[in-house]
Amino acid sequence: MTLASGRKYVAIPGPSVVPDRVLAAMHRASPNIYHGELHEMLPGLLEGLRKLVGADEAHVAIYIANGHGAWEAAGANMFSRGDRALAAVTGHFGHGWAESQRAIGVEVEVLDFGRRAAVDAARIAEALAADRDRSIRAVLVTHTDTASTVRNDIAAIRAAMDATGHPALLAVDGIASIGCEAFRFREWGVDVLIGASQKGLMMPPGLSFIWFSEKALAASGRADLVTPYWDWRTRCLSSEFYRHFAGTAPAQHLYGLQEALSILFSEGVEKVLARHEALARAVWTAVDTWAREGDIGLNVPLPEARSRAVTSVRIGGGGATRLRDWTERNAGVTLGIGLGMARPEEPTYGDYLRIAHMGHVNAHMTLGVLAVMEAGMQALGIPHGSGALDAAARVVAEAARPAA
Ligand SMILES: *Cc1c(COP(=O)(O)O)cnc(C)c1O
Repeated sequence: MTLASGRKYVAIPGPSVVPDRVLAAMHRASPNIYHGELHEMLPGLLEGLRKLVGADEAHVAIYIANGHGAWEAAGANMFSRGDRALAAVTGHFGHGWAESQRAIGVEVEVLDFGRRAAVDAARIAEALAADRDRSIRAVLVTHTDTASTVRNDIAAIRAAMDATGHPALLAVDGIASIGCEAFRFREWGVDVLIGASQKGLMMPPGLSFIWFSEKALAASGRADLVTPYWDWRTRCLSSEFYRHFAGTAPAQHLYGLQEALSILFSEGVEKVLARHEALARAVWTAVDTWAREGDIGLNVPLPEARSRAVTSVRIGGGGATRLRDWTERNAGVTLGIGLGMARPEEPTYGDYLRIAHMGHVNAHMTLGVLAVMEAGMQALGIPHGSGALDAAARVVAEAARPAA
């Protein structure tokens, strides 16, 4: 017998669940790419993308690329060969971004804050203050590191940078947080923000986005790493539609994006964020309850440093990997691997998994995942505290209590 037949749930932090409405919007023949509806859609898409992250005046580039492509796009526009960057890293994706910038010719200094705590903005300020000839061009920060599930305080980092008077750009990877956590591009003084379609934006992989300030655009004028495909200037300063995509537009994806933005705005961005907050808290509460008796715990101890989109959980003795296998085989739920928490040869490699609660996810999905994890721990004999599901249900009930 298997209990896995039925609709599967891939609860990994990207690609996330794609709403049927988005899939249906994309399921169409290619439109005329020379004029008409596709061209008329673009200003509304750019406007929606600005609104989503509080970037009313920013420029936006839409790329046919995943997040790794957008990392290179941002670097190509910000840097010349040999320029310096400061990367504040809190997990696997922060390291990945730093490596990608090195690979294209940037000299990157890494400030490593480990995998369980947020960036200490004072250390960024120290590094900038020590840069007396002002040669650091940009500070690179991941808002939510999807691997460690640490979330960083972007406003605090900007304030620390401003206090030094250093002119470096602030570039943020928001791939895992946009659409799941509040993002205030203008208010926080962000210069460059990177997003991708397959996380909080609820789309298939294939598009990425860069929002950039006037100051960042000016920097791109002197960046000698830029190539025609990534160039912000040709893409955003021309009114010719095909230039925005440096070739054929990703037509079906643009229809999907239009639908995804419409879903987000009709729920209301504040409500979308509140839903993520409630589901994240239900997950944290369940894991904290399991942790009372088992070798189990949340990877990020401080709640304010935790992602609202994905949660990294440690289950010792290789329990996390055994549980992942069990839930996929027996219950139709795929959990995320413990990316970048240990190297394959280390004994703790199998001790981490990630629960996504990102994008098109509701209470029954998250409570279902927690219940299935509990069943798996029982089946596998993994010791755990009792009452986790009760506790998670109480969080959901509290968040959705009818007004008296
Ligand atoms: C998913 C992710 C990436 C990588 O995106 P790809 O589309 O897989 O290239 C980079 N940074 C963060 C924070 C992510 O969540």
